[in-house]
Amino acid sequence: MIGLEALYRVQDLDTRIFDLREREEGHPLKAELEELGSREQELAGELQSLRGELEGWRKKLQSSEAEVQRMEEKIKREEDKLYGGKVNNPKELRGLQAEVRSLKRQKDDLETELLEGMEAQDELSGKVEGLRAELDALRAEMEGKRKVLENDLRGIREEIEGLERQKEELEADIDVDTLQLYRRLLESKHNLAVVKVEDGVCLGCRVELPGKEYDRFLKSETVFRCPNCGRILVK
Ligand SMILES: [Zn+2]
Repeated sequence: MIGLEALYRVQDLDTRIFDLREREEGHPLKAELEELGSREQELAGELQSLRGELEGWRKKLQSSEAEVQRMEEKIKREEDKLYGGKVNNPKELRGLQAEVRSLKRQKDDLETELLEGMEAQDELSGKVEGLRAELDALRAEMEGKRKVLENDLRGIREEIEGLERQKEELEADIDVDTLQLYRRLLESKHNLAVVKVEDGVCLGCRVELPGKEYDRFLKSETVFRCPNCGRILVK
């Protein structure tokens, strides 16, 4: 038994399987996730560099604070000398006064710098927070899409498996040589190896069979191939 009818149904199943494989490979969420993944890397890199910058500010401010404290102590020491009564020489006292004034000015400048630094640090902190929130949202979006994709792909694979099982059953009714020819043709004929003939026209290549060939085809009980494209023809 040649099993042409079964072969035609196998072709139909294969066509559906090829379509499903294409859907699996070209699932739009794959490209979308890839794009989101690059954006994620971009944001993560930006966040890392901002965090580095923030850490730099933190260290800088820490050392400025220590410097302000050192100056305060120095001012206090000079003032103690100035008002402690141990120094009486007017020239020396004037010198001490000038020294204290100069130190206070330096301390003021440093404190102004410190304040500006703190503002910059706050601004940077805000940016880091914003970026982190953006990254979190992006990752959540990716996770959601990944789940949808996995679900879709699982569905497609299950459908393919079901069709493969049906195919196996049908293939048992087809003789080995015909099946081998069919598989060879599938590869060389863009996944379409078995086609119907409608009004004498091969539905594979859309070329009309010459009258004599068409007559032979109508009477044929065995594998009959299109004289033009070589596909297996069925009634
Ligand atoms: Zn043809």
